[in-house]
Amino acid sequence: MINQQIGKACCGCKMCGDLCPKGAIAFETDNEGFWYPSVNPEACVQCGLCVKKCPVLRETENKTAFSPDVCCAWIQDEDIRLKSTSGGVYYALAETMLQQNGYIAGCVFSDDWKSAKHIVGRTKADLERIFRSKYFQSDTAGVYRQVKALLEQGEKLLFCGTPCQNAALREYLGREYENLVQCDFVCRGINSPKAHRAHVEELEKRYGAPVEFFNFKNKSAGWTMLGLLVTFRNGEQDFTDRNTSAWTEGYITSNLYMRPSCEHCRFKKIPRVSDISFGDFWGLDGGPENMRKGMSLVMVNTGKGRKFYEQALPLLHSEPQTLEKAIAGNGCILNCPSYNHKKRTAFFQNLDKEDFSRLVFRLDRGMKLKRRIRKPFSLAKRLLRKLTGGGERT
Ligand SMILES: Cc1cc2nc3c(=O)[nH]c(=O)nc-3n(C[C@H](O)[C@H](O)[C@H](O)COP(=O)(O)OP(=O)(O)OC[C@H]3O[C@@H](n4cnc5c(N)ncnc54)[C@H](O)[C@@H]3O)c2cc1C
Repeated sequence: MINQQIGKACCGCKMCGDLCPKGAIAFETDNEGFWYPSVNPEACVQCGLCVKKCPVLRETENKTAFSPDVCCAWIQDEDIRLKSTSGGVYYALAETMLQQNGYIAGCVFSDDWKSAKHIVGRTKADLERIFRSKYFQSDTAGVYRQVKALLEQGEKLLFCGTPCQNAALREYLGREYENLVQCDFVCRGINSPKAHRAHVEELEKRYGAPVEFFNFKNKSAGWTMLGLLVTFRNGEQDFTDRNTSAWTEGYITSNLYMRPSCEHCRFKKIPRVSDISFGDFWGLDGGPENMRKGMSLVMVNTGKGRKFYEQALPLLHSEPQTLEKAIAGNGCILNCPSYNHKKRTAFFQNLDKEDFSRLVFRLDRGMKLKRRIRKPFSLAKRLLRKLTGGGERT
C-alpha cells in the first residue's frame, strides 16, 4: 500500500488516487497542510498499482533531450505580457491550443482565492483563470483521469503543471499520446496551501473585507521587484515587493513552508520531464523595458514540443539563447537549493496562533540576528586558523 511506503517522500501529485481501480485512496492533510495518501484497507485489493506507478517510488526517468533548444521569448500582446508571471509564453501556447479546438489543463485559484486546483478547460475564460503562477500546491485530484479520457477520444490537450505533476501524468498514461503536449516550469519548490490560506485570512482581517483579486509577482513596480498585489471588495489594496512581502521572505529567503519532498526533487533537472519547459530568463540584460515587462526562458525538449512551439510563434517574440546563459541566471533549472529552513517546525506550530506575516518576520528576524552574531565568531576562527597555520577551509 502506497501510504506504508511513501512517507514524507510523497510529492502530493495525487495521481495514485486517480489510479486506484477500487477508489480506495483518499488524501489527508498533515499539520503543515500538505496532503498524503491514506488507503482504506477494506477496499484495497493489494493490486500494488499505486506503488508500481508512483513517480517518486518508481523513480520516473526524464526522457527528453539532454540539450534542449533554448529561447528567450515573450508574448507580443503587451497587456497579457504585463499580466503574466514571466513573459507570457504559457498564455501564447494555451491560446494556440484553443485555436486548434484543443483543451488546456492547468491550475486555477478557488473563488475565495484561498486554495488552488487543476481544471481542464477549453475557453478563453478558462485560460484567464489558468494563466499566472500560484506559488503553493495545486489540488490535482481527478485531473489525470479527465486528461486520459479526452486523449482517448482523440482530443488535443495542453497540460501544464509542476515537474512532479508532469512525471505523474506520464506514469498514469503509460504511453505516448501524439495529441498531448506537456509543459512544466523551472520550479523552486511548492509551498503549503495552509500557509497561503493563513496569509489570505490575515490580510482579510487586516483590511476588513474579502479578497477580490490576488496576484503573485505583480509587475506594477516591474518584473524584478516580485510584487504581490491583493485587492479587497471594499476598494482597499495591499502591495508589497521583494523587500517588504512576508510571503516572499518566507518562500524565497527562508524556505519556511515548502513541501518537504521538494528538497530532494528528482524531476527538476535536465533532461526535463515535459515537451516544453519555461521559467524566468533571469540573468539576461534585456534593457529597462524588458526588465520591467518580463522575459520568459523557454526550453523545447522534444520534437513534439518543437512542432507545437513553432505553431505558437506568430503570437510570440522569440530569439535563440544558450542553455549556459539560462543556467547562469537561474539556478533552479538544475535543482534549486530548496533546503528546508530550521525554523519550519516553529512556523507550523505557531501558524494557528499568530498572524502569518508577524510569524514569518519574527522567525526570520531571529535567523538574521543569529547570522549577525555568528559572523564575527567565524571571522575570528578563520583568522586564528590562518595565524596557527591551519589554512583556509574550502
Ligand atoms: C510553485 C512555482 C514555483 C516556480 N519557481 C520558479 C523558479 O524558481 N524559477 C523560475 O524561473 N520560474 C519558476 N516558476 C515559473 C514561473 O512562475 C512562471 O510560471 C513561468 O516562468 C511561466 O511564466 P508565464 O508568464 O509564461 O506563464 P504563467 O502565466 O505564469 O503560467 C502559468 C502556468 O503555470 C501553471 N501553474 C500556476 N500555478 C501552478 C501551481 N501552483 N501548480 C501547478 N501549476 C501551476 C498554470 O496552470 C499555467 O499553466 C514557478 C512557478 C510555480 C507555480
